[in-house]
Amino acid sequence: MTHQFPGLTPEQKKELSDIAQRIVAPGKGILAADESTGTMAKRLQKINVENTEENRRTFREILFSSDPSISNSIGGVIFFHETLYQKSDSGKLFPQVVKEKGMVVGIKVDKGTAGLNGTDGETTTQGLDGLSERCAQYKKDGCDFAKWRCVLKISHGCPSPLAIAENANVLARYASICQQNGLVPIVEPEILPDGDHDLQRCQYATEKVLAAVYKALNDHHVYLEGTLLKPNMVTAGHSCTKKYTPEDVAIATVTTLRRTVPAAVPGICFLSGGQSEEEASLNLNAMNQVPLHRPWKLTFSYGRALQASALAAWLGKDANRKAAQDAFCSRAKINGLASKGEYKPATPASQAAMQSLYTASYVY
Ligand code: 13P
Repeated sequence: MTHQFPGLTPEQKKELSDIAQRIVAPGKGILAADESTGTMAKRLQKINVENTEENRRTFREILFSSDPSISNSIGGVIFFHETLYQKSDSGKLFPQVVKEKGMVVGIKVDKGTAGLNGTDGETTTQGLDGLSERCAQYKKDGCDFAKWRCVLKISHGCPSPLAIAENANVLARYASICQQNGLVPIVEPEILPDGDHDLQRCQYATEKVLAAVYKALNDHHVYLEGTLLKPNMVTAGHSCTKKYTPEDVAIATVTTLRRTVPAAVPGICFLSGGQSEEEASLNLNAMNQVPLHRPWKLTFSYGRALQASALAAWLGKDANRKAAQDAFCSRAKINGLASKGEYKPATPASQAAMQSLYTASYVY
């Protein structure tokens, strides 16, 4: 950034921009495997597997030891703190396993949401205290990018101006601290899909939120070329009675992003937000086919929409390991194609892939 007191050296900027470009290289997106222990409990409960440290490790081991061709479609993996220090069956630290496959290692650094008093249940996200020290340690331990999730909601009077301003500012402060420590910040202002609002209402809210986020990033002198955005897709609320096609979602989303996200941002990696695996892939594919100029990569950073079929195939049984890996690799490949607008569904998607992954007021 051209200003009087540059916060980053040209070398620091180059490193950050190179990392961001590697993560969103053509046909690649992100695997979000940073579910907290509590969120893993819910995932494992669905397949009747106990939420022990070893079972969490085993599931991640299955994902990370997939066929090396996985790195053709996965550019980066987001870890949870616990996983960063766990080892594969062969005794290698997981970050090493992921790096050897050519994928970039990322880490969730926020500490969850906290209520904004006097609002209708709106939140900010905590974790700035000690963040610089934690980032420095994570960089030493092999991480090159970070994630911080802010949550907003749509309802009467929400997102409020306070929630928009507070979350934009905390994301900018987090991004600035990450960059000082050599980590590319993924900036995630997620607007939840809860509610019966239509597509236009979501578009309006998403435009307001993203415009505020980029104003705050600029105010905090964040180097945009060394960041990635992780937004919600613009969709109707989960209980909206009107149904929209992937093309409708794509036009609304790309229009919103063109109005608010500077061209200097290298990539926009959507969260799946409770969409089924197939829906998330079809929507992403449609976005990459919209006849509008897109100066950034549009790709995925899916948690649920990359892991649901794999979890359903695994069921906690060693004998199902290969089936789980096949399911994961298949979804990764499909999303890699969708990030280029080249996904052509050949056979009807499996039942697991069509299942809604929605949870009300989702906590990550
Ligand atoms: P979902 O794709 O499951 O919405 O999660 C992605 C994520 O990392 C949310 O912070």
